[in-house]
Amino acid sequence: MRTPMMAGNWKMNKTIAEAVELARSIRAQVEGFSSVERVLCPAFVCLPAVAEALQGSTIALGAQNMHWADSGAYTGEVSGPMLQGLVSHVIIGHSERRQYFAETDETVNQKIHAALRHGLTPIVCVGESLAQNEAGETHEFVGGQVRAALAGLEAEQVQRIIIAYEPIWAIGTGKAATAEQAQAICGGTVRATLAELYGDPVAQQVRVLYGGSTNQNNIREIMEQPDIDGALIGGASLQADNYSNMVRIT
Ligand code: 13P
Repeated sequence: MRTPMMAGNWKMNKTIAEAVELARSIRAQVEGFSSVERVLCPAFVCLPAVAEALQGSTIALGAQNMHWADSGAYTGEVSGPMLQGLVSHVIIGHSERRQYFAETDETVNQKIHAALRHGLTPIVCVGESLAQNEAGETHEFVGGQVRAALAGLEAEQVQRIIIAYEPIWAIGTGKAATAEQAQAICGGTVRATLAELYGDPVAQQVRVLYGGSTNQNNIREIMEQPDIDGALIGGASLQADNYSNMVRIT
């Protein structure tokens, strides 16, 4: 009922030429796998060239961030109207942006509203730090992030959102959460919070992804979990074979 999604977050990697090459290589391998939604998220400057490389393809394009305002004096930022027509998806509130660029629950919420206003599908990231995890605060913290992210949204809008649970301690560390740990939070915290806020039918429609050291070797077990609908993939999405195998396994 929920279409699985494999989204690649390329982060600050790849020049324009390299991004085009990677996109072409991925397209050649997974163009036909339309039962899995495939989204590639290169850096802003690579978007037009990668869009061209994906033209006519069933693979979607996403940005890694956006600003909440439509235009104005925000040096270095990119807005919804600039992305509209170029991408279909946008990652919002990645932990790296919260950690290094001072994004807060409030700005994340504003960006989600802006994305929806411009017809973009937000992939909203939540996740706890190692210290929070070890202190047993994961459920409360991640649940709070979900509530704050969705403030002021109607059920109809929430149905268009994708939530990615990415424990910070699992990102880029090679130490993925176990499938059971990921399921516990994706289901028991993220989807349960959605159900509390919007009712179970809405919660059952929203896709919840897991992110953090996923790859072709661990994706099967993760995808077997009932509340995990896909992955937000960092490092492995920079390797065409690895990413494509993840799509195939899904
Ligand atoms: P890795 O897959 O490299 O751990 O990164 C996960 C991530 O942050 C995706 O947004």
